[in-house]
This record gives sequence, structure tokens and C-alpha cells, in this order.
Amino acid sequence: MNVLVLNCGSSSLKFAVIDPDTSVEHVSGIAQRLGSPEASLDVKRNGTKSTRPIPGALHDEALHGVVDALKELGLADGLLAVGHRVVHGGSKFAGSMAITPEVVAKMEECIPLGPLHNPPNLVGIRIAQSLFPDLLQVGVFDTAFHQTMPPVAYTYPVPFEWLEKHSVRRYGFHGTSHRFVAREALRLAGLPADDHAIVTAHLGNGCSAAAIRNGKSVDTTMGLTPLEGLMMGTRCGSIDPAIIGHVADATGKSAKEILDSLNKKSGLLGVSGLSNDMRTVEEAASNGNDRAKLALDIFCYVLAKTIAALVVPLGRLDALVFTGGIGENSTTVRAMTLGRLGFLGLALDEAANAKHGRAQHGRITTGTKPQALVVPTNEELMIAEDAAQIARGA
Ligand code: AMP
Repeated sequence: MNVLVLNCGSSSLKFAVIDPDTSVEHVSGIAQRLGSPEASLDVKRNGTKSTRPIPGALHDEALHGVVDALKELGLADGLLAVGHRVVHGGSKFAGSMAITPEVVAKMEECIPLGPLHNPPNLVGIRIAQSLFPDLLQVGVFDTAFHQTMPPVAYTYPVPFEWLEKHSVRRYGFHGTSHRFVAREALRLAGLPADDHAIVTAHLGNGCSAAAIRNGKSVDTTMGLTPLEGLMMGTRCGSIDPAIIGHVADATGKSAKEILDSLNKKSGLLGVSGLSNDMRTVEEAASNGNDRAKLALDIFCYVLAKTIAALVVPLGRLDALVFTGGIGENSTTVRAMTLGRLGFLGLALDEAANAKHGRAQHGRITTGTKPQALVVPTNEELMIAEDAAQIARGA
């Protein structure tokens, strides 16, 4: 039986129909630019994509369009459950949950922590509940996997009442991806489920790394929000927080405006002045563009430094996993990062690095202890598996 996986963003809606038992994805797609005259719905099946315009459509109309597409493909009937990606579960969710009125109320309490993401996630849940009233809906939270972090990893050294009164602590994100690739890495590297130490690096437009000990996240780089940690496409990652006051004094901009620049105009885009897209930055760097070279250098330097720091909570390193659009595809980023981590015993296998990518995964180091691996992520499959497991147990 199939699971419908939904990921509702502020102006987009991604979907997939997946058989969690065979891992087969029957169809996937995205409705984008919702609310604008250019809104469209892309449906991908068997490697071919069809696009239909849905001008002015909001989430409701887009999801009706998805259901129509599923009906045409004979995939709308016999669904087992609907799995929803939910970005911020705060400290309230340590695992995926069947969505009940009480769970929705708790998700609403998390809105102040995820003001941009949680409201559209909830919109998607409400529409799916009305379209599929007989199906179990399951929430899968980006933060849940990191709820196993100990206080020493999640507590910020700030006034303690900020934690007590305002929930200011590190939560971490990309949990579904870190959980999925760690599981795949165990299998690929032949590591025991009850004794392993892995660092996973999810490098996409957003980037985060996690330290995973025996299947549990013990530390991660993103924090209260996805702005902390590694350098990203448009986000700065960790910086001196006093920069906000300094730039406010120097420019007269508000903290909100400066935060907007740290989220949308920093990272690869900010340093290179060219693009948030690693492909563009790499190409410009290889053509001698100095700022692109610097952006690429900082990206790999911060990544290597952070990976080494994440070995501290693990006590040792068995495997390092690269995933996400950059981690799966950029031979350059992997080579430059591993080039700085030789002291951990990681030695790049250039031939393996050159051939591994989204289509072919596996080890890219010469040694096996520790080893670095490329593992394509599949958050949708993980959501489908969770939803199926809960639906069958329910
Ligand atoms: P994601 O958010 O996981 O889709 O990843 C997006 C990022 O992956 C962007 O920065 C892309 O430039 C990057 N990316 C995709 N393909 C490649 C590639 N062949 N080489 C370098 N970066 C890539």
C-alpha cells in the first residue's frame, strides 16, 4: 500500500506517492509560486515531467490538483496514510506522530519557533484531512531526531531564563535526512547498530551536520533556527552575534532587516557576490574569480572544522557521510573537505570520489576505519516509512 507524502512550504507544495515496503516512488511533483499568476503544478512519473498552469492557486487548489493527477494515474485509491513534513516540533515531539486535535494544538504552540514554516505545514495538514477524512495523517518533524541531544549540547550559554521562559535552545533540523543517511551508512559500511560513531553532513541549499552515536543524534550544528552552524547557500551559519548590533549602529537597519540579510543574502551568495548555487560558485572559482574561490574555501574550511568538532561528543569516528545536493554531487567540496581531515585518518580515494554521486553511492576513502561515504538522501521515503509504521500499529 502507498503513502502520500506532503511537504507544504509558504508558496510551494511538494508531494510524492511512495510504497514504503519496496521504496518505489510512483509519482512525485511540486506546485510552485502559489498565490501568483505563474503558479504551476509539475508532475513527475517514470522520468517524464508534465507541467500544468494553475494561475493564482493557493495550497487548497494545488492539493486538489495533486489529487486529480493521482486519480488520473490510478494512485488516489487504496492509500495507507498521508505523511506530512513538519519543520519545527520544538521539545514537544521526539518522534513522528499520528495527527490528532491534541497534536495539532501542540504544533500550533511551536509556531513562534518556526513562524515561516509551521503555518503552511498546518495548512497542508488541514486540507489533507478534509480531502482524505478516512486516512491517518502522520506528522514527521525535522527537529524530532535531535531530541536525544543532551543538555550540554542543546543549552546555549545565555541567561537561563531565556530557555525557561522563551524555549531558547538548540533544536537542530534536517533530522529526517540525517536519520535516513545514517541508517543507509550503517548498512553500506557494515557497522553494528549498537556500536557506531557517525558524522552526517547534509549539504544542500541549507546545510547541517550531526553527530550520531548508536542511532541517536548527540549533537548537531543548526540551533534554535536553521541559521546556525555551517555556511550555506544564502545563510551565514555561525557568526559573532554582536555583528547584528554593529551593523544596526552603522547602517540604521533594524535587527529584523539584518537577520533577513543573514538568512537570504549571506553564505555562498554573500561572499561570492554571484550565486547561492554551488555549481555556479565552483565554475567561477575554476575560472579564477577570487571571491568565488574564497566562498568555496570558507565553505569547505568551516565544514571540515565542524566535522572535527563533532567527533568530540562521539569520542571516535567510524564514518563520515556526505549527502544533499552538494554532498551527493560536488567532488570538489568532498575532496577539499577531506583534504583538511587527514589527521582523523580519512584519506581520499580520488577515483571513487570522481565516480560517486546521486546515481552511485558508497565509500570515497581508501581506508575503512574511518571511512567517508556518499549516501543520497531520501526524506520522502523516510516520511512514508514512518507514516506506514504508525498506520499499521494504530
Ligand atoms: P538541495 O537543496 O539538496 O537540492 O541542494 C542544492 C545545492 O546542490 C545547490 O547549491 C546546487 O548548486 C548543489 N548542486 C547540485 N548539483 C551539483 C553539482 N553537480 N555540483 C555541485 N553542486 C551541486
